[in-house]
Amino acid sequence: MIRILFLLLILPFLTLAQSPTSQLIGALLGETPVEENLQELCDQVGGRVTGSKANEKAVDWALKKFQDAGLKAWKDPFEMPVLWLPESTQATVSGAVNFTPNIVAKYYSPVGTHKGKLIAVGKGDAAGFESAGEAVKGNFVLVENDLCLDINGLFAEYAAATQAEMLARKHGAKGIVFMSSRPKALLYRFITSQPTTNDLPQLVMSREDAARCMRILQGGDELEFSVTTKAQTGGAFTSHNVIAEITGSEKPEEVIVLGAHIDSWALGTGANDNGCNVSMMIDIARQMKKLGIQPKRTIRFALWNGEEQGYFGSWDYTKDHIDEMDKHIMALSIDIGSGALTGFFTNGRAELVPVVDEVLKPVAALGDFTQINAPIVGTDNFDFMLQGVGNLVGNHLPQVYGINYHATSDTYDKVDLKQLKRNSAIVGALAMGFANLTDDQITWKQQSREEIQKMFEAFDLEFTMRMFGVWEPWISGDRGRK
Ligand SMILES: [Zn+2]
Repeated sequence: MIRILFLLLILPFLTLAQSPTSQLIGALLGETPVEENLQELCDQVGGRVTGSKANEKAVDWALKKFQDAGLKAWKDPFEMPVLWLPESTQATVSGAVNFTPNIVAKYYSPVGTHKGKLIAVGKGDAAGFESAGEAVKGNFVLVENDLCLDINGLFAEYAAATQAEMLARKHGAKGIVFMSSRPKALLYRFITSQPTTNDLPQLVMSREDAARCMRILQGGDELEFSVTTKAQTGGAFTSHNVIAEITGSEKPEEVIVLGAHIDSWALGTGANDNGCNVSMMIDIARQMKKLGIQPKRTIRFALWNGEEQGYFGSWDYTKDHIDEMDKHIMALSIDIGSGALTGFFTNGRAELVPVVDEVLKPVAALGDFTQINAPIVGTDNFDFMLQGVGNLVGNHLPQVYGINYHATSDTYDKVDLKQLKRNSAIVGALAMGFANLTDDQITWKQQSREEIQKMFEAFDLEFTMRMFGVWEPWISGDRGRK
């Protein structure tokens, strides 16, 4: 039955086999090594924090995959500002009770031992800090979190954490203990709003342990908290993106970028974030090469590194190619797991909506696509947006992305492998569509700094950019179009 359904699904593409786009869609829906490659990356290479041995192994692994498929591919070096490779975090809660909670440090949390009282500040908003009063000074605040179930929950959590961080600094707290937003003792790692300069100890404690502490504090007892974080730390170092390309036949200087980040956190093995889409990019490149497809424009496959710390690899790419940004027709990021693609975020560029609608027609059987013209901050489209380049981010059904996001549980078994193949076909069609557009179909061009700033204002993006520590660099001119 499954086989019949599969045949029915690919039949429309088989009958149109004369068009390269249909050939590519058929090939991506057929037998390919996309699952096998993903399993290698997750299980053999594993979690791959930028700066780690595993990350270097992932880079070499991906380079070899592109080269074995016959593509022109290379390692693209860039500088990461700081090294922070977590080793362990251990904490004790003492006083009214004594126990060792399950806990991890957020990225770039200061190493060493830090101690203080544990002070409940509700959800870490102004009212919570106010009710705790003077007790916050010199102590650790304990912040309650809502359950995170999807991408909206994620953004809400980042926003609430940013607010708690600002207030903790303002009130002189020694550090912050965030209650995990996931059930069943699940832990995960986030950046702070000052990703690579943070000096405030910030931790994520299991939901159950944090709730226990809160109940005890509510009962009027006091709790002491001590945490020791060990990490390998250091200054700037070199990391690598992996880039591969299929050169355009008519307009080789015009580029379509298809990106997915190869780095991950290492609590889990970076499966839905973002190994599955790394495997997708490799498979699209492989099938295009195998079919001898050469689109009009160049398609560049970019496996970005240093994404989790603040999209450093893609930022560096925009700096390296600054004089060619106006030749970058579109840059796509796929970074929201393996749930069904429901369409694309067009990131404040309304002109892209009808074009995306049009290029998705060959895959109409694979989804009911709706484009959303809202700007996404938080992945590798960001620096293209900051350069005024037309950019897209894939939008997916939540599947199990939110609950496993950056967590111990983000492993191979959570990936929807069947959907990953359908998503590959959708992205393959989109890439072919953009690479083969006629000149008069390209109704957008690179925006000026003023136009980009206007877009940010129209979408009220300042707070979101502050959440990820990228507002100041834009305003100061360190990052983005001059
Ligand atoms: Zn990601």
